[in-house]
Amino acid sequence: MSMYGKILLAIDLSEESDQLIEKTRAIADRNTAELHLIHVIEPLSFAYGGDVPMDLTTIQDQLDEHARSKLEQYAAKLEYPIAGMHIVSGHTETEIHRIAEELDISLIIVGSHGRHGLALLLGSTANSVLHGATCDVLAVRVKES
Ligand code: AMP
Repeated sequence: MSMYGKILLAIDLSEESDQLIEKTRAIADRNTAELHLIHVIEPLSFAYGGDVPMDLTTIQDQLDEHARSKLEQYAAKLEYPIAGMHIVSGHTETEIHRIAEELDISLIIVGSHGRHGLALLLGSTANSVLHGATCDVLAVRVKES
């Protein structure tokens, strides 16, 4: 029985993302799911408050291009047909929710560090994704590499 027909895997493209591969493939296989990948690029203007005395467009384009090629390498490692690769810019959790709703996703997969102390107070992407999601969310525990 296919419970999760459409899966969205959120990846930050760090080395830790590799730890999401096996479980994602197994769940997608079992559900014969359509698998989508998303990577969100937070615009440079967010970090610099939109008040930088130079044009960031070229640097932003290079970052987008770099993300695309890293995402393609990642997709190849998954060894599962990818229905869509979504590279979007904005706030990470907002964009994950937006794309999940747009695509009518039934399961979002994110990585989760077992945080404690101050890092826990600051919150994690996994936590924020879970909160606003209208579908199931799987947080796969990753170890810091
Ligand atoms: P964090 O706990 O904030 O380091 O984020 C852990 C997980 O959130 C990652 O394994 C990804 O699943 C997801 N994530 C974080 N940043 C991004 C991003 N820029 N684009 C897509 N997913 C992300």
